[in-house]
Amino acid sequence: MTAKIAMDGIERCCPVCESFEVDRSILTDKFKYGASENAVTLEADVVMFTCKSCGLVYSGEDAEEARMEAVERHMIGVFPQMCEALLEQHRAIDTLFAMLIAKTMNAEQPFYPSESGQPWGAIQLGKAAIEAAGGRI
Ligand SMILES: [Zn+2]
Repeated sequence: MTAKIAMDGIERCCPVCESFEVDRSILTDKFKYGASENAVTLEADVVMFTCKSCGLVYSGEDAEEARMEAVERHMIGVFPQMCEALLEQHRAIDTLFAMLIAKTMNAEQPFYPSESGQPWGAIQLGKAAIEAAGGRI
């Protein structure tokens, strides 16, 4: 379909040759989300434009918004699993702290969680995140 006016009513032209003879189509964009080897492939329906004059293929301004909505849907889907994992990890660190406290109680340098540096910082961050998600320790 050739369109001079996009869905939002604003005239669009090719950013390279400024032609208004631009085809508009919907493409299901598959993209990777995540930086590790566990990155997931997400899909978003994106408006694509193809310039009939110079052949440039480009996405509209709402493409990034469509991709972000796909990311949000994905994150909502994994949210319960992440909350459960966070809570269990918090409990595990708490248990380890209790074991260390008991083990070092009579030692020359007893273990104090609040003086443990990174472990204490991690448990504080976890507690704040659990509470921000509406959970309780
Ligand atoms: Zn063009």
